[in-house]
Amino acid sequence: MTDERLSLSLMSLSQGQLTLLSTCPRKFQHTYLDQLGALTKPEQQERLLWGSRFHLLMQQRELGLPIDRLADQDPQFQESLTGLVTAEPTVFEPAIQSDGAFRQSEHRRTVEFRGYLLTVIFDLLILTAAAGRIFDWKTHPQPRDRGALAKDWQTRLYLYVLTETTDLAPEQVSMTYWFVRRRDSQTGKLVPQSLRFDYNQALHDQSRQDLIGLTDQLTAWRLGRVPLPQVEASKGLCLTCPFAVRCQRADDGPDFNPSVFPDLADVQEVIL
Ligand code: SF4
Repeated sequence: MTDERLSLSLMSLSQGQLTLLSTCPRKFQHTYLDQLGALTKPEQQERLLWGSRFHLLMQQRELGLPIDRLADQDPQFQESLTGLVTAEPTVFEPAIQSDGAFRQSEHRRTVEFRGYLLTVIFDLLILTAAAGRIFDWKTHPQPRDRGALAKDWQTRLYLYVLTETTDLAPEQVSMTYWFVRRRDSQTGKLVPQSLRFDYNQALHDQSRQDLIGLTDQLTAWRLGRVPLPQVEASKGLCLTCPFAVRCQRADDGPDFNPSVFPDLADVQEVIL
């Protein structure tokens, strides 16, 4: 396998690609190898655009650039910023700090892994000699389930790559999601909520094993030059997949609707 692997081009793998590879390899093929596009609903486009602008706003603020024009575009930007500064003042500390902490928004890291480049972009990284803290802004209306987020490749890959690219032990790194558009169901008031994930050696070892399994499997499929496997129809994923017709899975369920779109939670925010 090792010599054959050299014949393949080096490929980047992000958390979104790992997620797709884990859920349906054929969908990974359609999306990333064949580069076929999928439609998004207008409301999804709105959320993606809002999320992208919010990320840009946070990046400009971190760089010390004026944010008034962006913040004025939508009162919700200012509302989310105010909610965040109240709940997590750490996020708004000066970029240059007396304790020597390194902090950067939209911070990219890459680590070579068995013929692939594992790639992450942290919304905000705060790094000291004793700790590494990753922050991620989420713009879903409601926080995702904690158990599902713990298993999500974003959480796992981000913590894995930060550990592999620093001298920190797994126990010294953490990842915190901030759901910046979350509203209190009773009052309707915007109350951002966070979910923090700490890391440890056992989780790190497990992620490494799972990454070996996924990347080696992908390498074998690429070398075999055969279509990547489809997810079992019984899992129901094809019912809401935009590639159902292409995959000849359009008749697998009585509720199939050909004008389907990806699940909102599966759509990643786009960095402008
Ligand atoms: S239709 Fe089903 S098998 Fe085909 S890409 Fe979508 S989820 Fe995978």
